[in-house]
Amino acid sequence: AASPCALVISTPAAVLSAIAAAARSGVLFKGGVTVEEAARVRAVAFDKTGTLTAGETRLTDAVALGGGGADALVALAAAVQARSEHHLARATVRDAEARGQSVAEAEHFVAVAGRGVEGTVAGRTVRIGNPAFFADRDVACLGDALTEVERLRAQARTAVVVTEAGPDGERAVGVLAFADVLRPSAREVVAQLKALGIEHVAMLTGDTAEVGAAMAAEAGVDAVYADLLPEAKVALIRDLEARWGGVAMVGDGVNDAPALAAATLGIAMGGAGTDVALETADVVLMADDLGKIPYLLRLSRRTRRTLAVNIAISLGAIVVMVVTILGVGLALPLAVVGHEGSTVLVSLNGLRLLGARD
Ligand code: ADP
Ligand code: MG
Repeated sequence: AASPCALVISTPAAVLSAIAAAARSGVLFKGGVTVEEAARVRAVAFDKTGTLTAGETRLTDAVALGGGGADALVALAAAVQARSEHHLARATVRDAEARGQSVAEAEHFVAVAGRGVEGTVAGRTVRIGNPAFFADRDVACLGDALTEVERLRAQARTAVVVTEAGPDGERAVGVLAFADVLRPSAREVVAQLKALGIEHVAMLTGDTAEVGAAMAAEAGVDAVYADLLPEAKVALIRDLEARWGGVAMVGDGVNDAPALAAATLGIAMGGAGTDVALETADVVLMADDLGKIPYLLRLSRRTRRTLAVNIAISLGAIVVMVVTILGVGLALPLAVVGHEGSTVLVSLNGLRLLGARD
């Protein structure tokens, strides 16, 4: 009667049922502990590009500085960006193809997370990135490029500078601007999180404050933290954890991976996400559907309640049986029924979570 069979089976029955229900709804939990941790989440931080915004990023402006035209600028940039998995990179390559340019792949490709990329095209080093990427470099015509960047940013565009370097030094050759659009579901999801009692919903971005603020207002988040390099995202996650307790970080990029690892719960976008983000996260959203986040938080809370009930039933049954055996001499057959009965009861209670689909 005192053997804790029910206690032993109660947790796996519930947690594995929750993981199965989540998987069938398009949410992959990487483990049982993760389901329990998700129930502790009090704040949610979203990455901007690729997470709150869709993969529909478009190249809107190609401003050539100096000799070449816009087509040549886009072709040059696309040669380097063909090697990158960033959203701005994919948008650049799509645009080059739409312009009928054949994209020659660059050599010696290097990506600097949260800043930009560089590669060699026809013997010259081409760099593409935000102004901070060029801050400590001596670039001719950078002033003209920065003026363009400011003008485009005022229209809430994400603008990057393209430079070309040869033996004669490095020169800005143009500016590319992109329009990043919010996922249609973003606003609704933020509202649902608030309704679930999430106290703080934040947006993190490596992009500038202007673009960040415009997007944040549209999405209805509580706070926006801009100009963040990958390490700064980690520091911010730790900060949010100190303030709110459990923090979920939702991201897609290489630049988000450290923050995904640092957060109580790292959630990666399964479709748009990069391999490193998928490796590091605790939960993967299969169809990039942000709407699954409120679902997974509700599911984890329900799982925690089920666990509490199961533990109470299994310990309660043991206490009652031991007391009645010693007190009134409970008959052996009844003790067997009590023992097996409580085991079956907690198993069935756990299995109910199989029905908790989205
Ligand atoms: P977010 O944090 O919003 O997902 P990222 O950290 O990926 O944004 O990028 C921050 C900024 O770094 C971009 O807005 C862009 O200016 C620059 N950047 C990063 N990667 C690239 C790239 N492959 N091409 C051009 N610019 C890039
Ligand atoms: Mg991103």
